[in-house]
Amino acid sequence: MDFTIQNALIATQDDYITQSVRFIDGEIRAISKEFDQEDVSVSTLINAENQLLLPGFINAHTHSSEMWQRGIMSMFPLELWLAELYDFAPLDIEKVYLSALGTAVETLLSGGTSVVDHLVLIPGKELETIATAVRAYQEVGIRAFIAPLIQDESLAAGIPAGDTKQNYEPYFRSTQATLDIIEEATKKFHNPDAGVNIAVAPTGIQLCTDALFQGCTELSNKYNLCRHSHLLETKAQEKLAQEKYGCTAVEHLQRLGYLDARTSLAHCVHLTDTDIEILAATKSTVVHNPLSNLRLGSGIAPILKYRQAGVNVSFGCDGASSNDSQDLLEAIKIGSILHNVTDFDYQHWITPRQSVEMAALGGAIGLNMGDKLGSVDIGKKADLVLYDLTSLSLLPRTDPIGLLVLGRPSNIVNSAWVNGKQVVANGQVITIDVDNLRQELFKHSQWQTKRKSKSVADLEAHYRLVMGL
Ligand SMILES: [Zn+2]
Repeated sequence: MDFTIQNALIATQDDYITQSVRFIDGEIRAISKEFDQEDVSVSTLINAENQLLLPGFINAHTHSSEMWQRGIMSMFPLELWLAELYDFAPLDIEKVYLSALGTAVETLLSGGTSVVDHLVLIPGKELETIATAVRAYQEVGIRAFIAPLIQDESLAAGIPAGDTKQNYEPYFRSTQATLDIIEEATKKFHNPDAGVNIAVAPTGIQLCTDALFQGCTELSNKYNLCRHSHLLETKAQEKLAQEKYGCTAVEHLQRLGYLDARTSLAHCVHLTDTDIEILAATKSTVVHNPLSNLRLGSGIAPILKYRQAGVNVSFGCDGASSNDSQDLLEAIKIGSILHNVTDFDYQHWITPRQSVEMAALGGAIGLNMGDKLGSVDIGKKADLVLYDLTSLSLLPRTDPIGLLVLGRPSNIVNSAWVNGKQVVANGQVITIDVDNLRQELFKHSQWQTKRKSKSVADLEAHYRLVMGL
């Protein structure tokens, strides 16, 4: 595919210039003020006048099937929230398909061209769940990193025991059987050239044994897979790590060899200064999920400290049950200005241009694709987004990136390409029938209010006790 985007506004170091960008076979081949007419005569021309061209952002942590419970989850901290979530998790493949489509569409229409789906698997239908997400993302055409969410301990084990004696039921599937599923999924679906990547993704230290982390590390080394996990999202997890290991979770994961430049870690709210040094030294990436951290009361991740320590940071929406949307621009805005209240020294605050760099290049680095994605440069993949600067929410004209990050932009993505293939045109996703998706989401759901979660009833008293409530 040979395209030329003409007369787009492109960010330079601290200004903007109008340029044309040519891409061939999914890659950016040339950037210039003007191309020779002869040169571009065989190329499809796209007029991008008054539009801002940016690299596609990366929705670096989400759980697509949580879409089915957005707006209804109780006001709970993570541990109880999870109990409620799993009591009502969809067990229907059709729903997995529809929520993956929905997640992809909302990501694309808020500036994302890649999604990391920490995918909740339907028990007994694990490979089918993964195959379904692959199919949905391929149909939409978004670049997908499917990170099947795995654990090998039962939910109650994720809450600290405190002074009590706890006996946990064993998890329903063995560690080896779980690793076998991930290896089989890798052989079947991992195809980076086609935009489908499988990642190893134990959910976190709270529900996983060392054997599971080590098995995932081996698979990551064998197939060059990215590594993903939740990390120290809550106070309870900080406490649990000390109970389980007698050290912090970061120290333990480093000892297990799980941390490296392919590792991205969602949340990272409760880290020590030594933990931060370890993340920097191992080149691990922090995925910042500010809306989820607020919604679940997890805390404010020390993002400014990470940046000062040289830790790479990207943005995620997290699942729609703890957000309750998939608007990447909203996550970027809140995740940037939230930190102004944590540090009086305004020179440390995140500027809109830095936000864009974190969301695009930061995300790419966290997926070990910093050389291929995340900026508008020759040789990089054409994962690009054009924003309509004549849209009401981006007017009047001031600094386009400032308007995009700090404003409340709506309906501003005019076009998007993934790997050189156009997936959004004139503000609409063109690869699937979004009207039909809307109807299906409507049909497969109903208005509801109160639900009773049995697992919450089982866990709540113990949670309150150990957390001193
Ligand atoms: Zn998550």
